[in-house]
Amino acid sequence: MWSHSKASFSDPGVVLQPKHNLDFSNNQIDTNAAMLENGVRNREWSICSKCETYRPPKAHHCRICRKCIRKMDHHCPWINNCVGEFNQKIHTVALLVEALLFGIFVTAVMTDQ
Ligand SMILES: [Zn+2]
Ligand SMILES: [Zn+2]
Repeated sequence: MWSHSKASFSDPGVVLQPKHNLDFSNNQIDTNAAMLENGVRNREWSICSKCETYRPPKAHHCRICRKCIRKMDHHCPWINNCVGEFNQKIHTVALLVEALLFGIFVTAVMTDQ
């Protein structure tokens, strides 16, 4: 249960909102200036129309979390959180191991009866 709650409350890699909201009516030059202002120099960064912010490559928007998640894998309903860059390795493995142990436990109980 501990790792379950840890995964639920930990940050999967939420893309932080910029200090200033971006004005999409700006022309290209202003957009480039805004990108530099936000420290964004990687051209592979894209703009999320829902968050109205820049996001790094491989980041995807989660409609359930209403946030962009870095290296988003999927939204996991088990932990009610996104599985992304920061929590996919540790917590997903922990959950899988627990599920496996639980399965062995249930099988053992069933076999005893
Ligand atoms: Zn987004
Ligand atoms: Zn999500």
